[in-house]
Amino acid sequence: MTSTPSESGKSRSNDREPADFIRQIINEDNRTGKHGGRVHTRFPPEPNGYLHIGHAKSICLNFGIAAEYGGLCNLRFDDTNPIKEEQEYIDSIKTDVRWLGFDWGDREFYASDYFDQLYQWALKLIGDGNAYVCDLTAAEIREHRGTLTRPGKESPYRGRTVEENLALFERMRAGEFADGSRTLRAKIDMAHPNLNMRDPVMYRILQSPHHRTGNRWPICPTYDWAHGQSDSIERITHSICTLEFENHRPLYDWFLRELGVFAPQQIEFARLNLTYTVMSKRKLLRLVQDRHVRGWNDPRMPTLGGLRRRGYTPEAIRAFCARIGVAKTESTIDVQLLEHCVREHLNRVAPRVMAVLRPLKVTLTNYPEGQVEQLDAVNNPEDPAAGTRKVPFSKVLYIERDDFMEAPPKKFFRLAPGREVRLRYAYFIRCEEVVKDPASGEVTELRCTYDPATRGGDAPDGRKVKATLHWVSAQHAVPAEVRLYDHLFTRPDPDDVPEGLDFTANLNPASLEVLDCCQVEPSLADKGPEYRCQFERLGYFCVDPDSKPGRLVFNRTVTLKDPWAKIQKAKT
Ligand code: ATP
Ligand code: MG
Repeated sequence: MTSTPSESGKSRSNDREPADFIRQIINEDNRTGKHGGRVHTRFPPEPNGYLHIGHAKSICLNFGIAAEYGGLCNLRFDDTNPIKEEQEYIDSIKTDVRWLGFDWGDREFYASDYFDQLYQWALKLIGDGNAYVCDLTAAEIREHRGTLTRPGKESPYRGRTVEENLALFERMRAGEFADGSRTLRAKIDMAHPNLNMRDPVMYRILQSPHHRTGNRWPICPTYDWAHGQSDSIERITHSICTLEFENHRPLYDWFLRELGVFAPQQIEFARLNLTYTVMSKRKLLRLVQDRHVRGWNDPRMPTLGGLRRRGYTPEAIRAFCARIGVAKTESTIDVQLLEHCVREHLNRVAPRVMAVLRPLKVTLTNYPEGQVEQLDAVNNPEDPAAGTRKVPFSKVLYIERDDFMEAPPKKFFRLAPGREVRLRYAYFIRCEEVVKDPASGEVTELRCTYDPATRGGDAPDGRKVKATLHWVSAQHAVPAEVRLYDHLFTRPDPDDVPEGLDFTANLNPASLEVLDCCQVEPSLADKGPEYRCQFERLGYFCVDPDSKPGRLVFNRTVTLKDPWAKIQKAKT
């Protein structure tokens, strides 16, 4: 897909009411002809971790805007920090962006592609008296920087001549100095009210090999020095980023002005925060390293790899991003809205199947031995085109253990001794006898009769039953492991912890429940990873890559209950 239409199906072109303040700015720029009607955005991940649902917001925004305005969106890896970056992250980021449904064409760029140009520009700033080589250590620079209420102190090296600076910078570039011994700094204003303008560092000395440029650059540009210029080189018209860069904007503008080059417009928006979720890469890394989860793509992780494995669809994530919109103020979105969007999409597209998570054996005493019937089952009541399938029925079945109670309370309408219920797509059955393990007293089998006249699920005499149960035929069913998930944290704000503890104190010890004796209908036998379906009455599930021939593994994506929809209904 080169252009992804907005999820509403309506294109938000210039003549329509803009959906948010960013599109409003772009409309205005198009009206005044600021960039000749050109719209060019970029998504600029740092390849030091896996993408998460927060990044999805930025991806949908940048690629979405480009598509809506007939523009372009670049994928640019901000690879200015060689120490934390790896090829593995680059590959996974590309996989995830593609999976979300976006395409950067041949515009895959790297900040490291621009190291030569950045170096030339640094020489220009030095030549103009706008940058100098400083011998202060990192700690001393911090010390000299001052605070919001106290002006900074000028570096004793600030007065170096242009010639001296050029010579030293060239020697830094030649690898003559030790790591951290010198920096190149912009010469702006140590008393500036914005701390970012107090002679920020442009280059550090760092001899570690870079994943793309190898040992060619013993000096390393800072993010602040590389970012705005990378945008300029790519002629990005609207450089969309999160709010924490708002007070870096004067610095980016200063660099572009002093260099006299094309100046993209930076626009900041509030990052996505979700309840019951941590999003910072540092915290996600902690969860993986300390083995609180099984890896980056553990289905409980908010990473795109985790959500994919959990069974989330790109459509649902895009719909979620469209729904939350963009704003200038920080807020936290209820994770139930994300789950609601997943249900909404899966309800439309996921085939219904029958699976029993905690099996209880049912023998139909009056059903002919050896007989098998193929019954018609509807694949998706929401989608008539999905058709029907055959489900085998026989004398021995499994039903859900929870669907039987020996001594049912008043509101329990499912199976109980002497009671009749419907088996979905099949027959009415009546429980005649309860078989128990003599030692433990546990119910091991129900002996039931079926009424042959109720085939298909209705009684010709009009008698009613109060429950319809799902089931599988014991001899045909496929064994499966099913993994049920709950929120990874017990509190809406995982960082809400008593003094001295950190977010891991709020980890939910019951976030994963593994059921290993499940039985699923035989139509699932040949399904592979990422196959998504609804287990009737139990939720939406998908096949996990841990599946092996003869042993399927499923993840529950979401339950069927939709608390978010319920809350919205109550509000209206
Ligand atoms: P780091 O702490 O390492 O800087 P980051 O979250 O900023 O992490 P980047 O790889 O730099 O990660 O992010 C790429 C892009 O995604 C940036 O433009 C960033 O603003 C955006 N982004 C990251 N997190 C979120 C979020 N929670 N909501 C919206 N956008 C986000
Ligand atoms: Mg970042």
